[in-house]
Amino acid sequence: MIAVDGKIEQIIADFPILARPTSRGKRLVYLDSAATSQKPRAVIQALVDYYEQYNANIHRGVYELAARATAEFEQARVKLARFIGAETNEIVWVRNTTEAVNLVAYSWGNANVRAGDAILLTELEHHSDLVPWQLLAQRTGAELRFIPVDERGRYVLDDLDALLDGCKLVACAHVSNTLGTILPLDVVIPRAHAAGAVVLVDGAQGAPHLAVNVKALDADFYTFSGHKMLGPTGIGVLYGKHELLAGMPPFFSGGDMIRKVGYAQTTFADPPRRFEAGTSNIADAIAYGVAVEYLQGVGMEWVREHERALTAYALQRLAEFEPRGLAIYGPRDPAAISGVISFNLADVHAHDLASILDTEGICVRAGHHCTMPLMEKMGWSATARASFYIYNTEADVDALCAGIEKAARLFGI
Ligand code: PLP
Repeated sequence: MIAVDGKIEQIIADFPILARPTSRGKRLVYLDSAATSQKPRAVIQALVDYYEQYNANIHRGVYELAARATAEFEQARVKLARFIGAETNEIVWVRNTTEAVNLVAYSWGNANVRAGDAILLTELEHHSDLVPWQLLAQRTGAELRFIPVDERGRYVLDDLDALLDGCKLVACAHVSNTLGTILPLDVVIPRAHAAGAVVLVDGAQGAPHLAVNVKALDADFYTFSGHKMLGPTGIGVLYGKHELLAGMPPFFSGGDMIRKVGYAQTTFADPPRRFEAGTSNIADAIAYGVAVEYLQGVGMEWVREHERALTAYALQRLAEFEPRGLAIYGPRDPAAISGVISFNLADVHAHDLASILDTEGICVRAGHHCTMPLMEKMGWSATARASFYIYNTEADVDALCAGIEKAARLFGI
């Protein structure tokens, strides 16, 4: 059961959107944080403060406003570095996880991957950590391989060493956005390194929910998005070990990423600036810093324990519908997943189920969740997905179950 310590009430009160009834006058039950999270007032206020009080471009102006904007922007980088245990010069601002993966695929991938090399992914990858590697494989002639999962979406690591043989790169999701499966990085990363591979972790669903220390993990790259962890859209992070970033050519080029420019030739700034061409997403980076401060204030251990307890409760409540044809996908062990449950109600299409839930103010995602190959492997055309975050409670799970009951009755189940 979830600790009743008053903390959750305080958290909920920090999210203005959760106090707004839906257009049908229902309480908003937001169960789609794996798609994007809600934002606390402090993050929204940070955006307003920047635009109202010190809006200016960074790194160039000598006047007070520009100096303040630059200081706040760079301070946000320090906050993000601390949040994942990195050095400040290892934090590259990007728009999102997708851009971070593309940056590595083009900059590091083009320079290091050759025909005959292998790239190892998992069968749970989001399209964002799959398509860029497919394109790299097409450009270079490299081979794509996949760590398989079983029928419950659990990793099968028996053949890991054989899969790693000849591998230049492993790119893997820390947490699956469709099934919530947590990849045992403490197993995969050392073995990948022993095989000579560089490891990129897609942390889009990891960093928001689990305490991450990139040095303890020994990840070479770790990518994540602000909008899934209380921050704004349009800002994300590529973490890279400094020695790797230092050896990589630019991805985008233009202003703000140079050391010296002549008409014929240019030399480039050190990382992370080398990878931040053009005017950055200043306000969003600053607000992202506020978001991770908020998460640290809550405590990432609390976040994990809260979501684990809520997932356990949800699995138990959803199981009550199994005799009526509710299929629950993914590992059934709350310790093995992170706040995501995919399901289908008998032969009701996931979109119909999600639409009925919406009439009750309940937001769940329905579809392929950007994991089409997984859907095909499992033989699912679509699933409904409930995903939890710090502001969800057992009352939200109860509302979800009441909504499923309503749908079941409507369909005569
Ligand atoms: N990787 C995973 C596991 C995700 O869940 C997502 C988004 O849902 C992404 C990558 C892509 O994130 P973004 O759209 O912020 O680039």
